[in-house]
Amino acid sequence: MIDLVEVPPAIRNLVEMTRWMGKEHLRPLGIEADRQGHPHPPDHPFYKMVAEMGIMKRRMEQETPADEKKDEGKERWGARSAVLALEEASYWDRGMAVSLPGPGLGGPPISQLGTPEQKERFLGIFRDTSKPRWGAFGMTEPGAGSDVARIATRCEKKGSEWVLNGEKSFCSNSPRADWVVVYATIDRNLGREGHRAFVIERGTAGMSTPKLEKKMGLVSYETASFSLTDCRLPAGNLLGGEAVYKGKAGFVSAMKSFDISRPAIAAMAAGIARAAYDYTRDFVKQNYTTGRPIPRYARMLDRLTTMKRKIEASALLCWKAGWMADLREPNTLMASMAKAYSAPAALEACSLGLEVLGDAGVTKDYFIEKLYRDVKAMDIVEGTGQIQRIVIARRMLDYPRAEQGG
Ligand SMILES: Cc1cc2nc3c(=O)[nH]c(=O)nc-3n(C[C@H](O)[C@H](O)[C@H](O)COP(=O)(O)OP(=O)(O)OC[C@H]3O[C@@H](n4cnc5c(N)ncnc54)[C@H](O)[C@@H]3O)c2cc1C
Repeated sequence: MIDLVEVPPAIRNLVEMTRWMGKEHLRPLGIEADRQGHPHPPDHPFYKMVAEMGIMKRRMEQETPADEKKDEGKERWGARSAVLALEEASYWDRGMAVSLPGPGLGGPPISQLGTPEQKERFLGIFRDTSKPRWGAFGMTEPGAGSDVARIATRCEKKGSEWVLNGEKSFCSNSPRADWVVVYATIDRNLGREGHRAFVIERGTAGMSTPKLEKKMGLVSYETASFSLTDCRLPAGNLLGGEAVYKGKAGFVSAMKSFDISRPAIAAMAAGIARAAYDYTRDFVKQNYTTGRPIPRYARMLDRLTTMKRKIEASALLCWKAGWMADLREPNTLMASMAKAYSAPAALEACSLGLEVLGDAGVTKDYFIEKLYRDVKAMDIVEGTGQIQRIVIARRMLDYPRAEQGG
């Protein structure tokens, strides 16, 4: 992980608090959820404790200051603090990290597209420390994953309301969310120009009860599909209002969300890789000193150094992508490089770690087996590895933007 020497004290405290929470809660609860085969319920005392700690309240106050002018000229740290805190949380348990209360991936589109009234209405609730609250982001559909331009969920203006019909899949935290940001199209033939972003609040008629996917890993957070059948929304739930959707504003807002979220998702992969490295290193050290013969010892060292090298490189790429986001510099290329590098590096780290343990590595008695199941999805979420490489190539060659993954 990045050396914290240059980090402001508030961010250092956040990372140290995450480390405490990770050790005391995220790791044990993550293992428990994995063994029981389903996530902990939203009314679990842990989530109440997190809400009461006011972490999300402080974050909301930093990100949406009442007087934005007051903060003009100050150095921004939001993207880098997310990189550091989520890397640390994922070191302990990536699934539990995603399950933490907060707006999640639904936050960036509201921040970018939402009117001040919508920001207050949908993000303001996270200042409430009396109970945990969640937001979610629904782009992916059964027929549209990487190529988000193909989404088929329809939205139609009828009088003062919008009516939505369609299917959304793999929407993380949606079963417990207070609201879900959903992307729909006014006309599929318009491609990206037809996209609109809505906020659907929990209990809205026409939204089905989300159905949980049974995942191979990352069991500790919910990923679910739901349908929208004549789901009626007031005009005020269209993010930004109709005037903002000139050209590709809806689509661009989703892509800009990825510029912020991809460095953080890449950092989560790096966190899993670091956990795999530490676990494997300790296993090797312990067995070396206690006399259990470690076969082909030089090859073991080679595997450990490969893991370590790639973890450091991942952390630096994530840091740079986050730093550019904080500077409000275009960072799409760097965000995709971080994601394209970190996810396979983390998969390799878990695979090498499992190899080092040998037969023991495939048993449930050893933590590396869980990491191996958890890590695979990191190359799929927020745009697959192939899609990141397409984004990188297009940016390098100045090709027009295309599909970038949901
Ligand atoms: C654990 C988990 C959580 C998720 N959470 C969310 C969420 O909260 N919200 C949300 O909206 N989505 C979520 N997703 C969905 C995720 O964003 C999609 O899975 C991802 O965008 C890929 O889409 P797909 O799975 O439909 O694959 P597809 O797009 O069908 O791709 C299948 C394969 O083809 C490859 N491929 C596709 N197009 C190309 C191309 N042009 N060139 C080369 N190869 C290509 C892909 O890389 C992939 O290997 C989640 C997924 C998972 C696994």
